[in-house]
Amino acid sequence: MILGDLELTPLLDGYLRLDGGALFGVVPKTLWEKRAAADERNRITMAMRPLLVRGPQVMIIDAGAGDKMDEKSAAIYGFDRAENLDVTMARAGVRADEIEIVLASHLHFDHAGGFTARDASGAVVPRFPRARYLVNRGEWDDATHPHERNRASYFAENYVPLQEAGLVDFTDGDVEVMPGVRVRRTGGHTRCHQIVYIESGGKTAVFAADVMPTTAHVDVPWIMAYDLFPMETLDFKRAFVKEAVEREYLIFFEHDPAVAAGYIRQKDKRLYVEPAGW
Ligand SMILES: [Zn+2]
Repeated sequence: MILGDLELTPLLDGYLRLDGGALFGVVPKTLWEKRAAADERNRITMAMRPLLVRGPQVMIIDAGAGDKMDEKSAAIYGFDRAENLDVTMARAGVRADEIEIVLASHLHFDHAGGFTARDASGAVVPRFPRARYLVNRGEWDDATHPHERNRASYFAENYVPLQEAGLVDFTDGDVEVMPGVRVRRTGGHTRCHQIVYIESGGKTAVFAADVMPTTAHVDVPWIMAYDLFPMETLDFKRAFVKEAVEREYLIFFEHDPAVAAGYIRQKDKRLYVEPAGW
């Protein structure tokens, strides 16, 4: 997909399954199961869709879960990585050593697991050896000091080896990370969770990460129970949805199993997503 001077390609690092209740917070199952069917263990299938941005530099936003997880954990999350980042990057015609910037929305394992990989000896090494990894400083601090509520999502092996290799650049606040690409803090999901605005040729695309992980989450109160600060998510989404409808943002839904990107539309009071065709 072409956006002005930039080329955007949604990639895929496979699918995982997460508890349906955790994904929709206070929304009762009788409502959410109409939008997302649960399996026999009450889990819903979620995609992991990093975004490739080709412009002045070659960037990838998030990198999926990767393949370092042991078999037991992989079974708990029902990983299906037959279509993974290696496969979809090859299809997009880009090699790992061509990636110059790796941008993190946040450091949860289903976004940052693919930042590192095991080499032949079993050592954990940077997955994108020539890239600078851009991580919000506050997110880094939280990810390296997990507590009881977020410990299951933060694994040091996904990011500490990057710092040891000298590949991490910290960002503070809302900054431009490449011409036309800037991050914006949302908070809510994690204290420093950020989304990515991509602007070129008078058009705006937004990588919504976990503030709006699937098209089922466009309704403002449909907020994940994982969120540490749900009222922040609520306030952010209320304003953001209005902005997205009015300005016709192309939204990339990182976790949606079917729709990689689309436009949020409003008809009467009802919000819905019109999938983007390309
Ligand atoms: Zn997350």
